[in-house]
Amino acid sequence: MWNNLFEGLRRRMTCIYAGIFGLLILLIVFAAYTFIWWNILQHEKDDLVDQIYHEAEEWVDGGEEPCSAVSVREGSMLAYFVTPDGKTVILDQLGQGKIREGLFKHRDYWPSKLDTARMLNNRIFDEKGNAHRYLAAVAPVLNGGRVEGHLYMFKDMEFYYRAAFTTLFKLLCVAALLFALACYFGYWLAGRNIQPIGKMYARQMQFTADASHEMRTPLAVMALATEGLKEDEESQYSDFAKESIEMLCHETQRMSRLTENLMELARGDEGSLPELRTEVDMSTLCKRVGAQLALLAEQKGIALRAQVDDNLQLLGDEAALNRLLIILLDNAIKYSLTNTAIDFIATKSKNNLLLVVRDQGCGISDEDKEKVFDRFYRVDKARSRSQGGLGLGLSLAKTIVLQHHGEIKVLDNKPRGTIMQVLLSLNKD
Ligand code: ADP
Repeated sequence: MWNNLFEGLRRRMTCIYAGIFGLLILLIVFAAYTFIWWNILQHEKDDLVDQIYHEAEEWVDGGEEPCSAVSVREGSMLAYFVTPDGKTVILDQLGQGKIREGLFKHRDYWPSKLDTARMLNNRIFDEKGNAHRYLAAVAPVLNGGRVEGHLYMFKDMEFYYRAAFTTLFKLLCVAALLFALACYFGYWLAGRNIQPIGKMYARQMQFTADASHEMRTPLAVMALATEGLKEDEESQYSDFAKESIEMLCHETQRMSRLTENLMELARGDEGSLPELRTEVDMSTLCKRVGAQLALLAEQKGIALRAQVDDNLQLLGDEAALNRLLIILLDNAIKYSLTNTAIDFIATKSKNNLLLVVRDQGCGISDEDKEKVFDRFYRVDKARSRSQGGLGLGLSLAKTIVLQHHGEIKVLDNKPRGTIMQVLLSLNKD
């Protein structure tokens, strides 16, 4: 069915849709998170500077210390009051122990400009192993217009960080859910978009199959007639007429092969190639086709060496498999030079039948390795044509292999040539 043919395209489209949507979701999540966090931080910074002014006023008016004993002990709010030159400490509310040590260790990060605040990037761990992340701010302490000192205050922001992290995690969970929905929706959308193309394709395939079918009989008649003319020894033809008849014979044969191939490919696309059904003795088939093609190879001065194991049985379509072997061996012969050898191996590999056709011909470049399975693709058009090639053999070979749920690969032979490798599953004994 065309559905199968377009499944790969549908999956690729789904990946593209889902990828774009997923990226958009991630972008929105991170933008929203950054914006919210930046706003909170900005607000906290302004708040801490204001608090310093407020605490400073209370200190000047009533000598009240900026931080309570509890907040100093817990490390939630700390203060440090020094003279403007920073040399004399007027009040130290940085507590004792690791937090104090940590704050002094990051002394360089304390804000240097008055009325500003900044996050001390590193986390500080207290004796109990609890993490603290401080926002530090500094502002002047004024007494009757005179700057009495600089008051630093440190606010623990760990709670905010944790809350922000939890929020980000939740947002990412929602994003993952949305992404899953996007995949589902993308798959559905791709299916809908492909449907009309698939229908058109199916109609076109139907047309190709019908047209090839209709051309079959007239071509068979033409082939018979031209063969008859060629064989007719009683008639006296001029050299030109003989040449023309020869040409007609050749082209009629080409047309017949073309229509046969097209018909099979169209049937393969429709999914109407006969399903795997009979037990095929691949050992006998490979030996037979190998022997037939060895004669053809010999005419070109090429040695075809077949190495076929016994007892290779699989469930499949014998005529199609016969076709597959002919295509691979015929190509190896067509694209080989005289006085070279072709190895044809049919062997068991785990539970599979491994077919290898190794030639010492012109080889196939990496760039062309995938393309040779495309319809009407010929690497060297002139050469292929001169060899009677139509550019349909390997696409038909691939259709047959896929019909048998197998794999086909093109590899390089060393030092030169091509290896065609086919893997088909064998019958389980
Ligand atoms: P064609 O009928 O032209 O041989 P195929 O589909 O069988 O068409 O092959 C496609 C192209 O792949 C060929 O035109 C040829 O250029 C290349 N090719 C196939 N088999 C071989 C091979 N054994 N060695 C080199 N080139 C090959």
